[in-house]
Amino acid sequence: MSFDFQLYVDGRFEAGAAKFGSVNSSTGEVWAQMPEARTDEVNRAVEAASRALTDSAWAGLTASARGKLLFKLADLLEKAAPRLAEIETNDTGKIIRETSSQIAYVVEYYRYYAGIAHKIEGSHIPVDKPDMQVWLDRQPVGVVAAIVPWNSQLFLSAVKLGPALAAGCTVVLKASEEAPGPLLEFARVVHEAGFPAGVVNVITGLGPEYGAVLSGHPEVDKVAFTGGPQTAKHIIANTANNLAKVSLELGGKSPFIVFADTDIQSAVNAQVAAIFAATGQSCVAGSRLLVEASVKDEFLARLVERVSRIQVGMPNEMATEYGPLCTERQLRHIETVVAESVNQGAKVLTGDKTIDRAGFYYAPIILDCTGVSNADSITTELFGPVLSVDTFSTEQEAIEKANSTVYGLAAGIFTTNLTRAHRVSKRVRSGVVWINTYRAMSPLVPFGGFGLSGHGREGGFAAALEYTTTKSVWLRTSDDPISDPFVMR
Ligand code: NAD
Repeated sequence: MSFDFQLYVDGRFEAGAAKFGSVNSSTGEVWAQMPEARTDEVNRAVEAASRALTDSAWAGLTASARGKLLFKLADLLEKAAPRLAEIETNDTGKIIRETSSQIAYVVEYYRYYAGIAHKIEGSHIPVDKPDMQVWLDRQPVGVVAAIVPWNSQLFLSAVKLGPALAAGCTVVLKASEEAPGPLLEFARVVHEAGFPAGVVNVITGLGPEYGAVLSGHPEVDKVAFTGGPQTAKHIIANTANNLAKVSLELGGKSPFIVFADTDIQSAVNAQVAAIFAATGQSCVAGSRLLVEASVKDEFLARLVERVSRIQVGMPNEMATEYGPLCTERQLRHIETVVAESVNQGAKVLTGDKTIDRAGFYYAPIILDCTGVSNADSITTELFGPVLSVDTFSTEQEAIEKANSTVYGLAAGIFTTNLTRAHRVSKRVRSGVVWINTYRAMSPLVPFGGFGLSGHGREGGFAAALEYTTTKSVWLRTSDDPISDPFVMR
């Protein structure tokens, strides 16, 4: 297949200020040329979104008509899914079986928000004044800058564009400079769906330079960001310029808690998926195994055995279970942190399994960090296939260790004890808790974090309200003339 990647600004495709080569992570070779957005492109995209916000072509549509456009987008996305999955796999190294199934489900997010568009209601206030009617109108919050990382980008943009467009906002979507291909191709689907010019704009651009121009642009009203906590701090600083509303979906260091009473093999299977799916490059990765000491040996023996059988291969082959990391920078970072953790006393349980292939492959690794709770691989998010292991002996200890992190995105609890499941899920500080499962997602369910994992929730009905603001409308109902305020009676 051949691809022609372009920026999408004000309803037109354009070449960008320059081109840059995007690297295929499984070969280390440039596989496509991508357009680069700089200040001029960012500014024009925001100005187009700002014009479209009040233009009757968009602002004049009924909520139901907006919903219909979103349904159409979902249908076209369903057709384009195989092509988009192929591009995402080429551009990020994420394996084709994951990109295919994820994009197929992204369609449901657009359908969910399509159905919500005409269910966003205002309200009436029984105001404490005679002859007055007051109602709250729900208005779109305005121009949304949606900024996403390279991983799961069609999903991460759907949880922003779906509610934003349902609410009547306009959007500038910035793809990551690491792998912008899938979102640039997605722009073609948006165009085909027939959204008026400027309602959705898709650009690229180096984050620190042009992401900053976007998030601080005076005409941006909301920044919906997914990425790392350090970037989030820059975004907060950038929005001092425009006082835009901000939602932050950031990283995690999520605990995966295994009690001795659980079905061990089920928990092992879930743990493998929790940390090694997407080669560990997932915000919800269950990267800290906390296992009850009495079953540690059995659990680890089964886990190490299953991990030794993971099929490493080319990401575009359906049989492959495990592909490369997205970037060489990420590969080097993980190598460094793992070496430091080993120096601090962590023990590698998976042996030396260097993967002898081109590209940015790094073998799945399990580190026994029992007794070295300050190991770097326990405390920092690595965004890679590194599982740290620690033990606990009591429920209280499990909760304390689970909460000893600056993050709070997700947690897994494996137990057959129902009352314990309730107690622990209530006390673990994270935005999502999965009990006897992991990674389950649905458009109906809110998702987001505590602490350095961010704030604001995506998914679910309430997320659509985050893209609205209220307008209080007062109507005087008396027919009596208003008297001159300066005439004494
Ligand atoms: P990143 O923070 O480096 O980049 C994310 C986006 O921000 C990119 O588009 C980038 O260009 C842009 N950006 C960078 N600097 C900017 C600035 N100063 N101003 C404005 N925009 C800027 O993240 P990454 O390395 O691409 O992705 C990995 C991170 O994303 C991890 O921490 C991961 O946990 C997180 N993540 C979170 C979720 C979630 O839903 N919570 C989902 C996926 C990924």
